[in-house]
Amino acid sequence: MRLTRSFIPTLKETPNEARIASHRLMLRAGLVRQTAAGIYAWLPAGLRVLRNIERIVREEQDAAGAQELLMPTIQAAELWKESGRYEDYGEEMLRIRDRHDRDMLYGPTNEEMITDLFRQSVKSYRELPQILYHIQWKFRDEVRPRFGVMRGREFLMKDAYSFDLDHAGAVQSYRKMMLAYMRTFQRLGLKAIPMEADTGPIGGDLSHEFIILAPTGESQVYYDAAFEEIDYVAGGAGGFNHDSAADLNRFFIEMTTHYAATDEKHDLAKWAAVADPRRREGRGIEVGHIFYFGTKYTKSMNAAVAGPDGKPVFPEMGSYGIGVSRLVGAVIEASHDEAGIIWPDSIAPFKAAILNLKVGDAACDGLCESLYGRLQGNALYDDRSDRAGVKFNDADLMGHPWQIIVGPRGAAAGKVELKRRATGERSELSLDDALAKLAG
Ligand code: ATP
Ligand code: MG
Repeated sequence: MRLTRSFIPTLKETPNEARIASHRLMLRAGLVRQTAAGIYAWLPAGLRVLRNIERIVREEQDAAGAQELLMPTIQAAELWKESGRYEDYGEEMLRIRDRHDRDMLYGPTNEEMITDLFRQSVKSYRELPQILYHIQWKFRDEVRPRFGVMRGREFLMKDAYSFDLDHAGAVQSYRKMMLAYMRTFQRLGLKAIPMEADTGPIGGDLSHEFIILAPTGESQVYYDAAFEEIDYVAGGAGGFNHDSAADLNRFFIEMTTHYAATDEKHDLAKWAAVADPRRREGRGIEVGHIFYFGTKYTKSMNAAVAGPDGKPVFPEMGSYGIGVSRLVGAVIEASHDEAGIIWPDSIAPFKAAILNLKVGDAACDGLCESLYGRLQGNALYDDRSDRAGVKFNDADLMGHPWQIIVGPRGAAAGKVELKRRATGERSELSLDDALAKLAG
């Protein structure tokens, strides 16, 4: 994209409604704009990041054997009356009435709807297990929407639901999803720690939250450095395969034996047993939450299937959420500096910015056009006739992993300067070498 033709409205001033870094930087870098309290429009650069996160989440769900579908945002109240949650959910639910006076709602989550879809079609234990997911907007009328997209009212969530014949199967599905989550967060460039969580009003007895570290997190967390040393993505003998019960078991033991707790569950005696150099603590942001809740919905909504002996069985369920839009803010909280955002390579809106320091200079223009063509949509070309300082500042603010700086002296000799945003490291290279470094 050429900056002169783009809709990336960066701001020089810090908007005063933004109290945390990610919110400030998302507004300043032109990623989002608020349209109503806790409701945001995603502008082109922000949408590219959101889509990149979505892609990684989707790839890992698919790899774990989950199947994607798409459920609507608007739901009929009847389903929620069946499960009993229509009354229980309270003020966070946005209730709507249609022209025929029917009670509708904007879905805050989808357990009821997926259970309804399941019971309409699945009649036999032979069709189990199933893991179904979608990536869809949710609405929760949060009392205090804040921190930009991190606690919005409308937000994008990946929610998956598993159906198994028995408890053992449900535990297996739970472990598969947990592995998919750890792989997802690693690919997003995040250190995520699974913490045992309360099962809350939904009930059940197996639940984990995934917390990433950032100074502005809502809770204090304590964990063993072991979590940071595990490579969840690696294949081979030491790796974890979703389809191997032995691997899933070994993985789950790793996830549950090392110490990890939020302040509410912090256990001083157990913490003291963690060797000093292995102790990590800090503020954390919840980016995902998984739980097993057995037959809560299949029973209340009468979603039985015929078991092996012909008798009806209520499948055991779990649900698994990732805050896709929250992650955009959370990644920035975990990865920024004074000058701006530092995008991990895997989700950056553009892999590189091309900074033309002298628009109108034949050598600079020629080199930049050639780079821009060869980077095929992965680069943002700063072709504005602004001062170099303005371009440097904007590129740092927007956080592209690489900056390719093209000045008249270098260009005359066929050279560009390549800067790595994360380290500030610079090197002067030929065009081919710069492109090779970007690709590698
Ligand atoms: P929280 O405790 O932060 O309110 P929750 O327990 O209500 O989260 P879940 O119902 O488990 O969240 O939803 C799954 C995921 O959706 C959360 O882990 C979080 O990443 C995301 N999420 C929840 N509420 C919001 C929100 N208001 N804005 C953005 N993302 C959200
Ligand atoms: Mg909540």
